[in-house]
Amino acid sequence: MLPYGRQTIEDDDIAAVAEALRGDFLTTGPAVEAFERAFAETVGARHAVACANGTAALHLAMLALDVKPGDAVIAPSITFLATANCARYVGADVVFADVDADTGLMTPQTLAEAIGRVGERRLRAVLPVHLRGDVAELPALAELAGAAGAVLVEDAPHALGTTMTFGNTAETVGDVRHSAMATFSFHPVKTIATGEGGMVTTNDPALAERLRIMRSHGMVRPEGADPWWYEMPEPGFNYRLPDILCALGLSQLRKLPRFAARRRALAAAYGEALAPLAPVVRQAVRPAWSDPVLHLMTVLIDFEAAGRSRRDVVEALKARGVGSQVHYIPVHRQPYYRELYGDLDLPGAEAWYARCLSLPLYPGMADSDVATVVEALAAALSR
Ligand SMILES: *Cc1c(COP(=O)(O)O)cnc(C)c1O
Repeated sequence: MLPYGRQTIEDDDIAAVAEALRGDFLTTGPAVEAFERAFAETVGARHAVACANGTAALHLAMLALDVKPGDAVIAPSITFLATANCARYVGADVVFADVDADTGLMTPQTLAEAIGRVGERRLRAVLPVHLRGDVAELPALAELAGAAGAVLVEDAPHALGTTMTFGNTAETVGDVRHSAMATFSFHPVKTIATGEGGMVTTNDPALAERLRIMRSHGMVRPEGADPWWYEMPEPGFNYRLPDILCALGLSQLRKLPRFAARRRALAAAYGEALAPLAPVVRQAVRPAWSDPVLHLMTVLIDFEAAGRSRRDVVEALKARGVGSQVHYIPVHRQPYYRELYGDLDLPGAEAWYARCLSLPLYPGMADSDVATVVEALAAALSR
């Protein structure tokens, strides 16, 4: 079975974990700082704060910004649940932005429209998601957010390794030139894996300090205090990433250039193999400024034209050993959010959802697997 994504764990990754297990610290230890430093350097940020998972990273970002009950946070509807849920963890309202139907990304137009629905609430943060690995138009989104009194927090688990060019400036996702923070996840399907794991990057030392405090119970140790002393100005969480997993993350991060090159090569092979299936099957559209390391190989399928339901296609692929997944069901449609905010009309999100299907993409795939997947897809779509 070819899953839609999976980790690549090698002997040296296992050795790195074994070494951490033999060390003095299973949790807060030297690998934590080493992983954070290496990650910050890799993406070009000043600070990186490791945490329990990508959801904790988003929650910590909301806490660091001091997002309060009654505030508003804008998130796109096409994303994983956690992007929206983090606002609810701190009592803020989620205003769902629509996405472009062909990129799946929040755009300046859909953000402006969402800002129009914020009303009297204080808009504190806008969370663009770099869906599949392609980047949203950060400078324009940052300008709109800034004019509305808010900052960007990039939810970037799909885009580790992605580069982009705005004007003449080459940038890397996570360098946070346009945003207050960017969040990452090291779930097994993401570009590097620690099992559970997350990271927040920022260039602001005050935000970095708040992230660290809230990651560990809200405890602070005032300078010059007694050696046992700690104080808690406000309660935080235990969102630490153990030394064992940071050792794995550090080992995985060294492989990012190889993993990224492999993902790019597989995506290019898919591009060629899928071309004959147009116009029924198209790739998601790549924005001009984006040079992605794709996390997901998402295609947009005109199921109506094919005369096949998505369920039939998913089951036919599975019967041929090909896994697939839908990224994503619009979050605004979840029962919890419909109960809170009623039914929203987000046509771009609906059009994306109606057509999207993610095919297998991970570094361990063989070149021949791409042909296998595309042949299975062609067969599943043919009458
Ligand atoms: C994976 C992911 C998350 C959550 O990360 P976890 O580590 O699973 O908590 C959040 N947002 C997006 C866009 C993701 O892909």
